Amino acid sequence: MHRKSWLPLLLTVLCLLPSVALAGADYQWTMDDYIWTFQSKRVNGVPIGDALNAAFPNVSWQAGPSAENENEILGLCYGGTEQESFELLVRFTSYFSFEIEQGLYNGGALDNPSQWLVEILKDYQSNHRCSACEGLGYTDACLNCSGSGSAYGKTCMACGGSGKYACKTCRGYGIMTKDYTRECPFCDGSGGSGPCSTCDGSGQEVVGGILMMCTDCLGSGEATCSVCSSNGMIKMGYLVNS
Ligand SMILES: [Zn+2]
Ligand SMILES: [Zn+2]
Ligand SMILES: [Zn+2]
Ligand SMILES: [Zn+2]
Repeated sequence: MHRKSWLPLLLTVLCLLPSVALAGADYQWTMDDYIWTFQSKRVNGVPIGDALNAAFPNVSWQAGPSAENENEILGLCYGGTEQESFELLVRFTSYFSFEIEQGLYNGGALDNPSQWLVEILKDYQSNHRCSACEGLGYTDACLNCSGSGSAYGKTCMACGGSGKYACKTCRGYGIMTKDYTRECPFCDGSGGSGPCSTCDGSGQEVVGGILMMCTDCLGSGEATCSVCSSNGMIKMGYLVNS
């Protein structure tokens, strides 16, 4: 088995990450969380996890080798059969991002593992088209704006300006995929992270002797969870990596 090539290094890092899972602001992102980051990552609407699982049986993960640097977080994803197999060595660069470091297909090194993955994703896309919307991702023009996206001179409130409704069957992706949305462990799904430190939770602050609305929390008194709610990528309190 070609997997042997990784083994000596693998053994050195099995204790790479602490396994204590504390929910809340001091939550430790675990190897399972990194794996979720990779699997849930959508490229043209296709989650990488769905594409690999459809293309190969027995897809599994291990903590990868971390030779030079103990802060380095690597995962080894592999699967397939004796006839057709793959391995991807993935470097996680933050909670939500990663690079594919190396890839093997049937034991041979891939020149461009990312490009190889793109082909797997494309195959998934053509084989899992949503039949309810014929792959468009939306159904029915919005009744409120007749599909124009604006009503009474403003952005249509009913459809958010898109003029149509996302297909319920495929949730707007145009393809049938697993839903990887999960509750944010850093705020236990609340979207907040305790009292705002600027105003001590009062929602107001004194600026030049005048009592003003706190601009950090916009008067709510609660700090926003920096992981799930700050960069707009995510529904409040949830992680929906895409
Ligand atoms: Zn509308
Ligand atoms: Zn659909
Ligand atoms: Zn505040
Ligand atoms: Zn959160």
